[in-house]
Amino acid sequence: MSTSRSRSADRIERDIETLAGPDYTLSGTAICRYAYTDVYANTLAYFTRELEAIGFTVWQDPVGTLVASNVGRGERAFGIGSHCDSNRNGGKYDGTLGVVTALEVCRLAHEDGAGLPLRLISFLEEEGSGFGQMLLGSRIMLQRLTDTDLTEHIRDEHGVSFWDAAAAAGYEPKRWRESIRELDGLTGWVEVHIEQGRVLQDTGNRLGVVEAIAGYVHGDLRFGGRADHAGATPMDFRLDAMVPAAETIVELERVANEIGDGVVGTAGEVETSPSLINVVPGGARVSLDLRSVTGVHLDLCDRIVAFAKDRAAARGVRCEWVERQRLAPTPLDATVVGALTAAAAATGEPFRVMPSGAAHDTMCVAERVPSAMLFVPCLDGLSHTPAERAEPADAALAADVLYAAIRALAAP
Ligand SMILES: [Zn+2]
Repeated sequence: MSTSRSRSADRIERDIETLAGPDYTLSGTAICRYAYTDVYANTLAYFTRELEAIGFTVWQDPVGTLVASNVGRGERAFGIGSHCDSNRNGGKYDGTLGVVTALEVCRLAHEDGAGLPLRLISFLEEEGSGFGQMLLGSRIMLQRLTDTDLTEHIRDEHGVSFWDAAAAAGYEPKRWRESIRELDGLTGWVEVHIEQGRVLQDTGNRLGVVEAIAGYVHGDLRFGGRADHAGATPMDFRLDAMVPAAETIVELERVANEIGDGVVGTAGEVETSPSLINVVPGGARVSLDLRSVTGVHLDLCDRIVAFAKDRAAARGVRCEWVERQRLAPTPLDATVVGALTAAAAATGEPFRVMPSGAAHDTMCVAERVPSAMLFVPCLDGLSHTPAERAEPADAALAADVLYAAIRALAAP
């Protein structure tokens, strides 16, 4: 490893270990950090001190997303960052490693003295552990919510609205729409994040260049038959809701494999009613999580819903599909992806160009700014657990590649 990369790895490790200390988490056994808690404020204060020490100006948007720049507010700059809140039983790396790596890029720029204009952003509430809403800070910034969402619908575990909680923490939620200005002048955006899968580890790669973020459909197949006594009802007298549900789960795997193209389909929740050993299931619910970067998960959805209805009807069972949420795939910017790929190749280290199956704040930023992401491998794909582990040396490689890519993009 080069001297400068090993110095970066040391600094990244120091940041990560500091932010895992008792002042920065509500839990003694995990990282638990979410909006408007003291430990979250301490974390923003840590980044503020470190950034001011290298000449950056630091401020927050009206609801508490942290922004820092080495040029004037709104001036042309390249954006880097992630989020530093955690899942309630989280680890040291999900989110935080991205902000720490962005901080390291700011240090590299400071030491280099070339005056590369940068803007670091650490988004509020990505994980949804404070208010049950994922990507909250970035969706606020991109104006994807309404006043009513913030004053009524979005509440913390005690029933306090986001609006009141933000105001109580000293922010100005009534100015939330001004948050969009934090993207003014951004010439590009790259978020570094742990992969949260095992592809990089299992293929021996040290870095992933993310070229697209998968979209998804979430919903439930609900089957309605008739609950009957399991002993007294012969097989040909039954309307068993679970049997077409089970057939559908097997078909989901078959069709996803047939479609290919990186599509993934998961039946993660299965429920029967009344859920008793001696009663034929009168009802069954199967959740579906279907994702792809190309949009083929929508075809998968149509085919599986049609199959489920068909198999249910053939057995005299009712079947309906209730969609919960859908989000379109986010293609990332070919120029930024190309610069990261070239910079990664120049290091001679193993890397791969890949999609992201998980959602990230970059899905919002990419609506306005040419964007991409870098993935750092994580042990066994683990995330949202204290067992999360990523190598500071890999994050240092990411910082090196990111800094080189930004310089290349800024070159006339
Ligand atoms: Zn994250």
